[in-house]
Amino acid sequence: MRIPEETIAKIKDETDITELVASYIKLERRGRNYVGLCPFHDEKTPSFSVSPDKQIAHCFGCKKGGNVFQFLMEIENMSFAEAAAKLGEPLNIKIDTETSSVKESDMTLIRMHDYMTDLYHHLLMNTSEGEKPLQYLLDRGFSTELIRSEKIGFAPNMSYFAKNALLEQGYNEETAYQAGLLSRNEENFSYYDRFVGRIMIPIKNHQGHRVGYTARSIDGSEPKYLNTPETEIFKKRELFFNLNDARKHIRKLDNIILMEGHLDVLKVKMTKVQHIVATMGTELSQENLNLLERLSSNVTIMFDGDSAGQNATLKVGDTLLKRGMNVYVQKIPKKMDPDEYIETYGKEKFEQFIADEQQHYLHFKAEVLRHESKENDMKFTQNLTLLANDLKYITDSLTAERLVATISSIFGVNKHALSGQIPAPVRQKSDYAVPGPVEQQLSLRQKKERYVTRIMMTNREFLLEYRGTLDANVLTYGPYYDIIRGLCAYFEVHTVFDLSLALNYLDPALTDTLIELDGMSIHEDVSHSEINDYLEDLSGIRNSENKKQELNRRLEIAERENDIELQIKLTQELIELNRIYKM
Ligand SMILES: [Zn+2]
Repeated sequence: MRIPEETIAKIKDETDITELVASYIKLERRGRNYVGLCPFHDEKTPSFSVSPDKQIAHCFGCKKGGNVFQFLMEIENMSFAEAAAKLGEPLNIKIDTETSSVKESDMTLIRMHDYMTDLYHHLLMNTSEGEKPLQYLLDRGFSTELIRSEKIGFAPNMSYFAKNALLEQGYNEETAYQAGLLSRNEENFSYYDRFVGRIMIPIKNHQGHRVGYTARSIDGSEPKYLNTPETEIFKKRELFFNLNDARKHIRKLDNIILMEGHLDVLKVKMTKVQHIVATMGTELSQENLNLLERLSSNVTIMFDGDSAGQNATLKVGDTLLKRGMNVYVQKIPKKMDPDEYIETYGKEKFEQFIADEQQHYLHFKAEVLRHESKENDMKFTQNLTLLANDLKYITDSLTAERLVATISSIFGVNKHALSGQIPAPVRQKSDYAVPGPVEQQLSLRQKKERYVTRIMMTNREFLLEYRGTLDANVLTYGPYYDIIRGLCAYFEVHTVFDLSLALNYLDPALTDTLIELDGMSIHEDVSHSEINDYLEDLSGIRNSENKKQELNRRLEIAERENDIELQIKLTQELIELNRIYKM
């Protein structure tokens, strides 16, 4: 079910964007607007602007922001329904985020997971089948409290346990297969349980819905960990394990600890350290990286202490460093993983370790590379050059200076010599040019398209009348075309144009263009004939009329001269012209 349009409008009307933004960043008055440092990208001079009149907040650098919903979605990493629910709270407007933010077909898959999770959990906690796996978890140091709160369960040694349970609930096999809960025999298309004899650790998506499992075998069968396959609701490249629970701690501390193992995360969750997430594989996807960047610019990698963990740290560290993030490493000693560390030294020692031992990623990398260089002079030089090159990504001068001192001492070289090797700093994404007037950059045609879009934008009557003619041949500039399409949907529901509300109907990438159009003044009494004139011009009809006359003239000559071949050719051109520009 969608949230009713009146509810959205009411929340928007009763929420002040200036107050909302001011609860996240410091704002200063500038004329009719307020400005501040953008919360979505690093910058030294403010490009984030809040307009109380228009009720929008927008960054002219990274283009992020929008109306109250979009601002909150962006800064809290929420869905639209969640943002609406949060804004509705103080207004006593209740919004059911369960049903409104998720597609019904996805909701079915989620309900299946909720049902199976409860069943598996019950089996683990209350039955004789669950005794052995429960003991295993307790022996590994997981508390009953954590097992309960995470709803960890056990899938029994039966091929049709989940299948029968789901069929009994009225679900069909095919849907359970799509949910990743059943497997299929591709020869006879029979279905059977995917998870058999395994400890089931539910994986929540970023909205807190359980959408998949990490399933650990306890009888030594391979693979040790079996994950839910890619499904409509379980997309690994978009997920971090535990993000839903860690989000508020990440915001508060402005730091994310990135871990490898899901069980490690659960073990750490029993300590005071809560800003922890795990990747869903060893590599970070583009979606993962974008998400990390929005959550915090400080990432701490805490992978296993063995050599596989070290290699993964180098790979992920390089990627994050090159994205301009501040990367640290929490190096677990003696080749342990976080779980073993906690088991060996206890929770307090671990919390202390987290607080004290954050090493800059380049410090970590320098130690690894120095060790690897041994007495090999060529490797030594190569590795040092590599580090000098990495130093160009460090934009904070104090950090850079300290790292130069650390690295040169690890390699036993002169720090001035090392500084001299650092290439010119890369252009960081914070160096945005202040937007200048775009007027001159537009072609004459684009100006005409812009004018038509601007007229339609605030005139529902015209837009609905002309929507059929405003196709991609008329509005050749993609953003204008997309804006018109979005506004058609907007005006199906609303009678007057409201910049802030209209943003809900558009791709956020169009916000800039819509704001620019909104700032353009037009005279109010636009007539039909003026619009027709523009449309004739943009659609090419006017030119086609001239061309038609020319073709007819040549056709006459061809007829006079009895040139049949030319007559056929010209007639075909005329037909084609009429086909394209019929109105
Ligand atoms: Zn920005």
